[in-house]
Amino acid sequence: MTTAVDSRRPLQPLPLLVLGSGSDPGSERGVSCPGELPAASDPSLVRRARAARRALGDRAFILGHHYQRDEVIQFADVTGDSFKLAREAAARPGAEYVVFCGVHFMAESADVLTSDAQRVVLPDLAAGCSMADMATLDQVEDCWETLEDLGIAGEVVPVTYMNSSADIKAFTGRHGGTVCTSSNARRALDWALGGAGQGGGRKVLFLPDQHLGRNTAVLEMGMDLSDCVVWDPHREDGGLTAAELRAAAMILWKGHCSVHGRFRRECVTEVRARVPGVSVIVHPECRHEVVLAADQVGSTEKIIETIGRASAGSAWAVGTELNLVRRLAAQNPDKTIVFLDKTVCFCSTMNRIDLPHLVWALESLAAGTVVNQITVDPESAAHARAALTQMLALP
Ligand code: SF4
Repeated sequence: MTTAVDSRRPLQPLPLLVLGSGSDPGSERGVSCPGELPAASDPSLVRRARAARRALGDRAFILGHHYQRDEVIQFADVTGDSFKLAREAAARPGAEYVVFCGVHFMAESADVLTSDAQRVVLPDLAAGCSMADMATLDQVEDCWETLEDLGIAGEVVPVTYMNSSADIKAFTGRHGGTVCTSSNARRALDWALGGAGQGGGRKVLFLPDQHLGRNTAVLEMGMDLSDCVVWDPHREDGGLTAAELRAAAMILWKGHCSVHGRFRRECVTEVRARVPGVSVIVHPECRHEVVLAADQVGSTEKIIETIGRASAGSAWAVGTELNLVRRLAAQNPDKTIVFLDKTVCFCSTMNRIDLPHLVWALESLAAGTVVNQITVDPESAAHARAALTQMLALP
């Protein structure tokens, strides 16, 4: 559907394209690149990217998320998941420019963890994340106010997934919580709940991915599904009663990943019938019933490691983003690697970073113009850093 764009709408500052609930397709207008964007069909793109990269030398450091396109990832100085890339950015104080080939929340974390002198650049500002967009600061503050009114906010520790905006990380830091990743969610919850098996009597507000929160609480920590309630930001009081909120150990935010949320239990049944002897491995952002039906669950890094170590001749169905699954298949020709779903499933926002945008960003930087810089205001950055630092200090 095409939506008419109001020509009176101010184009500056360029907003992040909101892709979550309540999105406004017209806002895409606000993310056009100022300046000349090369055509995707330009045959000289690779040569131009190489030349700009050479010209920038050590002044630039390019980070590439595992879900990025091959045409982009070939220029990454380091590849990884969002947490690894944030650490890599922080470990490069000498790089004047950190070019983040990933999505907006990742670039924000990089800005929080790098020095004031470093500039973090996102080649296309439309590279947002639908999951991160599902929890806005206003909504989360409303939720917290309800918990305060009920007199239980003091028992609640916020834990936010890395895949959240800097505002939400700052909220978490302000309220004594921590950031977590899909690799350390169990440790984060143990800490927030007062220690493994100790039943600290505290509750967790888990943001913004309900599936990672539920899968970790139930499958890794032995909680019951009934210990978890889902806070719907679009309903009054989250759609929950005071009794439900008082009884719950896990208050899960009603957010999900539009890529991993697509997989259904039937995909697992279907692939088992289609590929004899297949092992199914999925990301914990998948629905609970999909994780239950799979053989293994693990973060992006764990999926890469597991398949890399698997024996030759083994067969794998992988429930994560398609760019990564295709790359795993190319890198492991001695194994059969298939995508869990029959239909393609790229992360549309990750795919916004393409070679024309990368060339544009690198050539602009080489010419001395900083484009698409991502900055987090100092106060939010300080609180977000506290939540990120707490994550790094998790036992
Ligand atoms: S794969 Fe999911 S969580 Fe990751 S950037 Fe895309 S929408 Fe967000």
